[in-house]
Amino acid sequence: MNMSDNELTDDYDLQTRAVRSGIHRSQFNEHSEALYLTSSFVFDNAAQAAARFSNVEPGNIYSRFTNPTVTGLQERLAALEGAPACVATASGMSAILAMAMSLLKSGDHVACSSGVFGTTVQLFGNILAKFGVVTTFVDGSDPSEWEKAMRPETRLLFIETPSNPVTEVFDIAALAAIAKRHGAQLAVDNCFCSPALQKPLALGADIVIHSATKFLDGQGRVMGGAVLGTREIGEAVTGFLRTAGPTLSAFNAWVIMKGLETLSIRMDAQSKSALEIAQCLERHPGVERVLYPGLESHPQHALAMRQQRSGGAIVSFEVKGGREAAWRVIDSTRLISITANLGDTKTTITHPSTTTHGRIGEEARARAGIRDGLLRVAVGLESVRDITGDLERGLCR
Ligand SMILES: *Cc1c(COP(=O)(O)O)cnc(C)c1O
Repeated sequence: MNMSDNELTDDYDLQTRAVRSGIHRSQFNEHSEALYLTSSFVFDNAAQAAARFSNVEPGNIYSRFTNPTVTGLQERLAALEGAPACVATASGMSAILAMAMSLLKSGDHVACSSGVFGTTVQLFGNILAKFGVVTTFVDGSDPSEWEKAMRPETRLLFIETPSNPVTEVFDIAALAAIAKRHGAQLAVDNCFCSPALQKPLALGADIVIHSATKFLDGQGRVMGGAVLGTREIGEAVTGFLRTAGPTLSAFNAWVIMKGLETLSIRMDAQSKSALEIAQCLERHPGVERVLYPGLESHPQHALAMRQQRSGGAIVSFEVKGGREAAWRVIDSTRLISITANLGDTKTTITHPSTTTHGRIGEEARARAGIRDGLLRVAVGLESVRDITGDLERGLCR
């Protein structure tokens, strides 16, 4: 007899769990994951309603609290990251917000990498600052710089590795040890690698953040996010979401859940192409430098290869000639999408200094190493020949 898909244990491989964990079948015993499009759930009688609300009887009440499709996605993603708990959110930013609101209070201090996603810089630097959470932005990945940033009231260290867009690699185990020594927690935005390539919790991190909008969906269809960590962290974040409301819709959860089935296969294929494209760009006379952790020329190549299964699917590179030359490459493409998103099966190209990182200001950009000639390419599933041909058209010879 088949076991229930919910009974899948850790003995099963990642790819098996990506396809089979978190399935909650309805009374019809459908084979594919069910999409429970409903805002609320009905009770048999008044007593059952009371029992559900007072937590005496487990079960769904209202989709701002729980929804079986969202629960299924949370279970599947938790299995992939090796996390005791996963809480899905409406977007990647609401995942970071929910984590911060659940774990921090006024007077707490955060050490955040200055090289994180531009909106994350604004969330910590402008929004959370209004509520008395103080953030220091730390330059670079050198653990001694992070050690210096620690204060008695430091509660959270926040990094992205590889970082967006300059692909700086952070030593997760080293920073986790610093956090631990100072009574703080380490949160890793695992957007660029996804659990298919990197498992921050296994390396000592306390929290993993995802923008599910990127590689987890992987086909550019929906927004979503997730916070992963201990059961305690999961409960704190769930408590915030139930009250504040940025929960994930059942429909988006269903789309992302199906995206997870092909995550590992997509990541492997897109990373393989990314390496070939990075090697090709590195040889090109119009290119100043290529920032890709899978290249031996990357300053943290050895660390990246210890932490990650591959270099990933994002290739950043600096062209000779600054902004004008960078824009020429973008405007000469015929195939690659000019868009801010990444992690799609369709290759995308972005000029970070005038788009995603435009609002953080010149000084912050300089600190993060985002120069005007920098371009970020998120490699998709088109052929390598067609992608490189599209990029080379606008490059100076
Ligand atoms: C896109 C992105 C986010 C924000 O996610 P949304 O789903 O757009 O809210 C956070 N971190 C990184 C690294 C990202 O690329």
